Amino acid sequence: MAIEIVNPYDVAVAQFDEAADRLGLSQAMRAILRKPKRELIVNFPVRMDNGDVEMFTGYRVQHNINRGPAKGGIRYSPEVSLDEVRALAMWMTWKCAVVAIPFGGAKGGVICDPHHMSRAELERLTRRYATEISILIGPDSDIPAPDMNTNPQVMGWIMDTYSMHAGYSVPAVVTGKPLAIGGSEGRLEATARGVLVVTREAMRDRGMQPEACSVVVQGFGNVGSITARLLQDELKCKIVGLSDISGGVYNARGIEVHRALRYSKEHGSLKGLPDSEHVTNAELLELPCDALIPAALENQLTGRNASRIKANLIIEAANGPTTPEADSILNDRGAIIVPDILANAGGVTVSYFEWVQDLQRFFWAEQQINSQLENIMERSYQAVRNKSQEQECSLRMGAYLLAVARVAEATEIRGVYP
Ligand code: NAD
Repeated sequence: MAIEIVNPYDVAVAQFDEAADRLGLSQAMRAILRKPKRELIVNFPVRMDNGDVEMFTGYRVQHNINRGPAKGGIRYSPEVSLDEVRALAMWMTWKCAVVAIPFGGAKGGVICDPHHMSRAELERLTRRYATEISILIGPDSDIPAPDMNTNPQVMGWIMDTYSMHAGYSVPAVVTGKPLAIGGSEGRLEATARGVLVVTREAMRDRGMQPEACSVVVQGFGNVGSITARLLQDELKCKIVGLSDISGGVYNARGIEVHRALRYSKEHGSLKGLPDSEHVTNAELLELPCDALIPAALENQLTGRNASRIKANLIIEAANGPTTPEADSILNDRGAIIVPDILANAGGVTVSYFEWVQDLQRFFWAEQQINSQLENIMERSYQAVRNKSQEQECSLRMGAYLLAVARVAEATEIRGVYP
């Protein structure tokens, strides 16, 4: 049996290669688009609360900037690696192209365990990392945003650090900031709101009634917890399973998401949620349900568990949750997978709105943001669905065909410098 590809960068390149084959891209275009444009590795010291100085390693990778400035989140985790950041940067390029917003793809990360660091240590780490990558980031060049274990406060520290060096406030250097310093209405919920739109559209396509659907969500952070809440409140879905890093909770009769949110806030995790049964994260993915929404990390649906996944609809709120082997097992049995580069594009879409508002110093109302987000997500879903029907391929391949063609066109028009 062949060894399953789980290095995220190998997965990203394999997905690109398949799209490039179908599009008949030239050798030169493949060579250009297969590799990130820039990769910065930074090793930097941070003074810890006990007076010791510890060294940390961080990355910022820009995959392609032919359609606009680089855009992509910053992740703090012990599992961060250069290959993970490369993969996430490449997925950002395709994601911005799928929803047709004028950004290229980037990603950043620092190898650290933020759950075992104080707020002051995190602030010093963030300010030093921001300084180290300041040779790449800027409102016209590369605009970070939150990702796993980073949040509006972290974005605020990056914005302040960059602004201190400039000598004046530069809000457009990051998105996902607090409202008080140039953040956008609707940004906190944006990724989840985008997930809601594609879930609704995919259910409609399959003739599923949202109010009759049971849903399992893996991950209870920014994306997972808000997705679960919106699906319950606005689509009237029954949320039967939730999880975070401590494990999962299950109740076939449904979990009240607002209660789970309060419980998790009070207790620091979902562990021990009343009226629910404990399951592991591995068991959670295999629970009986109509829709499964991975919203935590990569490589959750693999060749090992794909044949036991019961859901017929999988919405990839996380980046890279499905390995190529799992993808083909699930496709073969007729499951529909709404791919990450489409499903979670709501975040970068409202980040785009935030950047435009910061540059214009003119801010929009939440209703305007949400309705424009809704239009873009609906239109993008329909374009991907139509492409996949026309080409008789999966939604993932449909999204790749649209995205890669757009990036290749921009790259072709700009030409090879000099
Ligand atoms: P977050 O840090 O807010 O939340 C992550 C959640 O995953 C937490 O509940 C954590 O407990 C859980 N988790 C961590 N390790 C886990 C494990 N081994 N098993 C199960 N759960 C685990 O992060 P987020 O911003 O919600 O991001 C989640 C995913 O969505 C990531 O793949 C990220 O790249 C993607 N994404 C986020 C955004 C955004 O706007 N935040 C946008 C697009 C995509």
